[in-house]
Amino acid sequence: MQKKYVPLVVFLAALLVLAAHLGARAVLAEPAFTYAEEKRVYLTFDDGPSTIVTNRILDTLKEEGVRATFFIVSDRAHGREETLRRIAREGHTLGVHSATHDYASIYASDEALLADVETCATLIRRVTGVVPRVYRFPGGGTAARERQTLLLQERGYRVVRWNAVCGDEEIRGACAAALVAESVRTAGNKQNVVLLLHDSAPHRATAEALPGIIAHFRAQGYTFCAY
Ligand SMILES: [Zn+2]
Repeated sequence: MQKKYVPLVVFLAALLVLAAHLGARAVLAEPAFTYAEEKRVYLTFDDGPSTIVTNRILDTLKEEGVRATFFIVSDRAHGREETLRRIAREGHTLGVHSATHDYASIYASDEALLADVETCATLIRRVTGVVPRVYRFPGGGTAARERQTLLLQERGYRVVRWNAVCGDEEIRGACAAALVAESVRTAGNKQNVVLLLHDSAPHRATAEALPGIIAHFRAQGYTFCAY
C-alpha cells in the first residue's frame, strides 16, 4: 500500500468500528428486543375476597413489591368492601370471576352467564370505581367455552386461563412447602407463566406459600406482571 493511503484506510476502519458500535447500541436500545427475551409470571388469585387470607396475601405482595391479579366472586365481597378497595388501592388488577360461583346457575345459558358477569362487574365498579376488563371462567375454561369466550370478548373482556397451578385446589390438605413445589413443577421452564392460586377463606396455606413462590420466580429471573 502506498504510504499516502494509510491515513485514509485508518479513517475508514475507524468509521466501520463506530458504525458497528452504533448499530449494536440501536439493537440493544430497542424495547421489543428486551421484552421478547423477558420471562414473565402472572400471579392470579381466584375465589376471593376473604378477610384473613386475602389480606395476608396483600401484605406479602406489598412487602415484596409485586403486583398480581384478583378474580373476584362478588357475593363474597359483601362486608369485605374495604379488602376489595385495598386490592385496587395497592395497584393490583381486579378481574371478574363470578357473582355466585355456582356452576349450575352460571352455565344454565349464555344469558345467565352474561348476567352473572354483569352482577360481579357492577359490584367491583360500585365499590372501587374500577371497570374490570379481565375475566376467568369459574371451573376453568375448556374448549367447550369457545362460544362464551367470544361473547365476553365482544363485551370488552380479556379471558384469562392459566398454565401452572400452586395445587391449593388439586392437592387436598397441601402444606405451604408442597404448594411451592407444585408451583415450581407445573411452571417448569415456561417463558410466560400464569399461575393459578386461590385466596378464599380455606386457603391459609396459599398465603403461607406465597413468599416462597415469589422467591422462586425472582431467583429464576422472572418479571412479575398483572393484567
Ligand atoms: Zn373459582
